[in-house]
Amino acid sequence: MRIDKYLANMNVGSRSEVHKLIKQGIVTINGQKAKTPKEKVNEKDEVLVDGQKITYQKYHYFLLNKPKGVLSATEDKSQNTVIDLLRKKDQYQGIAPVGRLDKDTTGLLMLTNDGQLTHELLAPKKHINKIYRALITGMPDERTVATFASGMSLADGTKLKPAELTILEKYPDQEQARIEVNISEGKYHQIKRMFGACGMKVLELERLQMGNLKLDKDLKRGQYRELSLDEVEHIR
Ligand code: URA
Repeated sequence: MRIDKYLANMNVGSRSEVHKLIKQGIVTINGQKAKTPKEKVNEKDEVLVDGQKITYQKYHYFLLNKPKGVLSATEDKSQNTVIDLLRKKDQYQGIAPVGRLDKDTTGLLMLTNDGQLTHELLAPKKHINKIYRALITGMPDERTVATFASGMSLADGTKLKPAELTILEKYPDQEQARIEVNISEGKYHQIKRMFGACGMKVLELERLQMGNLKLDKDLKRGQYRELSLDEVEHIR
């Protein structure tokens, strides 16, 4: 992340105020004077402004492998939410999931208290791609792939953007198939409704990717890890 963004995010000042501080030569990175606002820093660097340490800890970013049976919500009277999975949840004021996965959907869910980033990632205009893997009933074929690619309409008339459907494996005996879908929007129950519109049913659904952020192979369901600033910068 650029030093000016780092300091602005830490409320040291606006971007232009921060530029002035850098010009004055009172911003140091690991003991060296920052020369330009473009210099890069990460959370391991020691950043001082006028001798005062500025620790980057305002926002928290987690990547969770959501298990089945928990709600993508911040609180609920009777059911567990994804926030209940965080060990130190009381320390992350305002933390919330970035978008929603259905209760029975598993996989990648980002959690953060950076409201600006959440807003940006969910803005319909942003078209952040999301990749899902699913087990479905039905036998999708090249026509199904073409229907998804053409920008299909749902049963209620909602017109969708083109989506990429990849058939991974078919199980003719059970009339089931394993597929992957890449969509660039995030409508309510979108994947289930897309297959529903083709006369098929989603039995299992897992999100693998959102923007450039991929679900780690070794992150078990219910486990989470902190995202680095670099990962956060490059999600979109
Ligand atoms: N589409 C769905 O139908 N469900 C999800 O949880 C996510 C996408």
